[in-house]
Amino acid sequence: MFSIAIHGGAGTILPTELNPEIEARYRASLEAILQAGWLVLEKGGTAIDAVTEAVCVMENDPLFNAGRGAVFTAQGTHELDASLMRGDTLASGAVAGVTGVKNPVRLARMVMENTSHVLLAGAGANAFALEMGVEMMPDSYFFSQLRWDQWQQVRGTTHTLLDHTPEVDVKNALNEKKFGTGGAVAFDMHGNLAAATSTGGMTNKKYGRVGDTPLIGAGTWAHNATAAISCTGDGEYFIRAAAAHDVHCLMQYKGHTLAEAVDLVVNTKLVALGGEGGMIAVDGQGNMVMDMNTPGMYRACRKAGDDLPTVAIFR
Ligand code: ASP
Repeated sequence: MFSIAIHGGAGTILPTELNPEIEARYRASLEAILQAGWLVLEKGGTAIDAVTEAVCVMENDPLFNAGRGAVFTAQGTHELDASLMRGDTLASGAVAGVTGVKNPVRLARMVMENTSHVLLAGAGANAFALEMGVEMMPDSYFFSQLRWDQWQQVRGTTHTLLDHTPEVDVKNALNEKKFGTGGAVAFDMHGNLAAATSTGGMTNKKYGRVGDTPLIGAGTWAHNATAAISCTGDGEYFIRAAAAHDVHCLMQYKGHTLAEAVDLVVNTKLVALGGEGGMIAVDGQGNMVMDMNTPGMYRACRKAGDDLPTVAIFR
């Protein structure tokens, strides 16, 4: 038995907004990302390798707010966050606010494997990237007209595109509710779980803002006794809810099933706080859940025995 699920962000993704051509592009990308992880698992590879490979492919795809497709900060730069975690040893690695790194998830993996730390941030994390010799990219690599245009809507204001503020017009209000973060969770044939998540954060973010994505327990979590989880959404709320870890706690201490735990966190606890978004999760039997409290979430999953992957966008 083995299985994998991936997400490319949740939010106000409506059938009326995505024309068939764009929808087809998203679906093809989701399949390619899933396939990258699937191939690792199928060959007997590990869950941690599967989620690393899947998230790397997502980081290289400009459609998603991670790596290449990262959103602009208030300074017009790209500050990237990523994390991953192994369910067998609880080893974890994360980076926050790194710049120019092609694949932040690979750097997070190096933090996990080559240091005694869990999270490296900012200039220090970039110095570590240099030491590790990871692939660096010029600013132009991270430029996309869509992200630039999104930034222009809030540039020079105190708003981020996840702010819920009446000054932002209707079009922006729609945009602000899209979260393009990417993540993957996997269960391998050796019985191990792993999760990884990567993001550019929020458009127009300031002051070195860090969201839930690189925080172990908030945006990412894996424990063989329960589940592997990767989140997307309003980062500040996912941090307050310790969302990914809360799923683990509900399973471990209250005996909830994966589906019950995810449902409670996503549709009750986060909603009560005002946090929009979703998560993907897989348990130690290979069961998968992909749930959201928004109209849509880019997502895909596949388990051993499935002829084809499941790819979905709308709720
Ligand atoms: N959770 C991410 C953050 O707050 C955003 C996202 O999911 O797109 O940085």
